[in-house]
Amino acid sequence: MRIEKAKKTKIKQIFNLLASKYGHYAQPEGQSILEHLIYYILSYDSSITCAKKAFKAFVQGEEFVDWNEVRVASNRNLKEFLQEFRCQPSSGEKIKKLLSNVFEKFHKLDLEFLRQKPIEEAKKILSSLPALEKHIIPWILAITHQGNQFPIDQKTHLILARLGVIPPKTEDTELDQILQASLDKDHILPFHRSIVEHSKKTCLEQGEMKCKRCLLRKHCLYFHLTEGEHPPQQTSLEVIEQRSKSPSHSKNKIKKRKVSQK
Ligand code: SF4
Repeated sequence: MRIEKAKKTKIKQIFNLLASKYGHYAQPEGQSILEHLIYYILSYDSSITCAKKAFKAFVQGEEFVDWNEVRVASNRNLKEFLQEFRCQPSSGEKIKKLLSNVFEKFHKLDLEFLRQKPIEEAKKILSSLPALEKHIIPWILAITHQGNQFPIDQKTHLILARLGVIPPKTEDTELDQILQASLDKDHILPFHRSIVEHSKKTCLEQGEMKCKRCLLRKHCLYFHLTEGEHPPQQTSLEVIEQRSKSPSHSKNKIKKRKVSQK
């Protein structure tokens, strides 16, 4: 698959801008595979600060002695515990489900044996745990096996479609190829993390995006089409679909091309 140079450049620019805002993500060291997964679940829906506090309290056994106690805790208990740290209460149920899956399958709460498995086998085992959403698997394999696939979730699709990097209905595998061709392997984790952060803080999945103060607006198709004025009762992708086809957008593009050729 051939990826245009301009697209690769745009993705690199987006990555650098996001890194300048959200920092160069460093993976926490010394965590077990299970802990990496639990921390991922916590930080996916909640702010990093809240996720860190809740994770620390889990590990230090402030409320639950060990992960097994978390596994058998009631959803209500977990919800109340997470609310103390202003974390998304629904993360508790997801963590409990993951721990139950692991325990039922391996009769222990330990996934360290995966590090010794070839990557394809580790992937197959992780895919057999229903609690793990599809995009979490490349994430953890990038940590444990230096896997080279990008985690592709709904947030990544949505933001890159709004930015005009991909058409809205791009397949996951195609998007992964585009990202692999545009970014380095050691950008997998920081790119995903900053997309998740951008989705939580600025380019919201639901509710109004904060386009006028978004650092990506200069590179953004949606912003270019709307100037940050969100049309009521239309999703961002509907706006892109409709306005990209409009003759005035095409005329603008031609005008811009002529200006840049001068
Ligand atoms: S300008 Fe708006 S749509 Fe574009 S990336 Fe930023 S928040 Fe998202």
